[in-house]
Amino acid sequence: MMPTENPNNFRVQQRLLEICRISSASLEFEPLLNALIDAASELTCSEWSVILSVEPEKDQLTILASPFYMKEGLQHTEISKGNSLAGKAIQNARAAFYPATKTDHLPSASIWDKFAKVTSALAVPILYHGEVLGVIESFNKAKDGVYSGKDIEVLETLAAQAAVAMQNQRLLEKNEQSLHKMLELDHMKSDFISIASHELRTPLGLIIGHASFISESATEAQKADIEVITRSASRMRDLIEDFGDVDTITSGMKTLKRTRVLFDVLVPAVVKAFQPLANEGKVRLTQEIKGANLAVEGDPEKLEMVIRNLVKNAVNFTNPGGVVKVTAEEVPGFIKTTVLDNGIGIPASEMKKIFNRFYQVEKHLTRRHGGMGIGLSVAKEIVEAHGGKITAESVENKGSRFTVLIPLNAAQASAAQKVFLE
Ligand code: ADP
Repeated sequence: MMPTENPNNFRVQQRLLEICRISSASLEFEPLLNALIDAASELTCSEWSVILSVEPEKDQLTILASPFYMKEGLQHTEISKGNSLAGKAIQNARAAFYPATKTDHLPSASIWDKFAKVTSALAVPILYHGEVLGVIESFNKAKDGVYSGKDIEVLETLAAQAAVAMQNQRLLEKNEQSLHKMLELDHMKSDFISIASHELRTPLGLIIGHASFISESATEAQKADIEVITRSASRMRDLIEDFGDVDTITSGMKTLKRTRVLFDVLVPAVVKAFQPLANEGKVRLTQEIKGANLAVEGDPEKLEMVIRNLVKNAVNFTNPGGVVKVTAEEVPGFIKTTVLDNGIGIPASEMKKIFNRFYQVEKHLTRRHGGMGIGLSVAKEIVEAHGGKITAESVENKGSRFTVLIPLNAAQASAAQKVFLE
């Protein structure tokens, strides 16, 4: 509808609408606040405007936005809450004027004095769900004018935009702080794991060594007991190795020792190593290697760790009578390895989490398997360090298939990473 009474009102509304649009589209905090104070000055015909924020538990207000020519002079300046027009607006949670009466004098005007003499001012609180976050304040209405109800409406509209932006900024800062804390804790945890696993390895080695030494001269009955000691200690050592893996991977990720790795050699070696575990669990462990010279440029130890972790899981999570099949083949640009089992499978709701560190599917914990929820996260980190990709498909009570794609070489890896990112 076209305005008929006051074209100026229409212009103000148009401009406010424009500002609302910018503020919902703009992501940057500072430019948005600057746009708001520019609009405040323009629409209330003021010489300048500022946005101040209330600092929790402080008696001071911080200047968040001010005209560019004041910025330097206002650096580190804070405004007293108790002795300013802005403070009054905050205290009463409503607009405050200067001059409110003819004899009124502006409290704490001195900080503006170095730029211009204040003749009039209007401060409107920035409210978010009843909480005062700050103030938007305009100064020196043109021609020694006096601020009106219309000016309050304008500043209130702009304050509403500022409130959302300031609240978002607060949340963002909180998130950043939490993230920082989490990273610190993660670092501490890695340090602890690394020290603990290092310290535990030596005494365990001694236990295993001495047990086998005593075993040589022991009676048959004693040998059975010593065997229990050795087996338990070896199991403990495996767990500590797992911890060590996390540490090695976290710290040594960027330094892959690349050389030629043949998957047609690596896969059969891993399958062979797990035959005893498969036999113990009455699981048939098979392999199908398609072609020869399945070579990539990669870190042999780490790639072996990937296949080992997948085969170990497949065997562990497959019931007696089940089958695990490992395949390797070359597909354009990659060596593809799959580990397929017809075991207990993974519930669909858990699929996203299985690659997280220390994550284990709740229901699987009841099985005597004894992992620590590390294997898949380590595998993922290694595969991704090679520029490859690891994926899992699974149906509960039917089985799982893990697929690993490793690029043939570094050039292929950087091309692949772009594709995977997309
Ligand atoms: P863990 O050391 O516990 O095996 P992983 O990180 O290797 O840790 O695996 C995380 C979890 O994912 C496992 O605890 C298990 O619940 C589930 N999982 C992994 N592989 C399989 C599989 N082949 N079949 C069923 N569940 C699996």
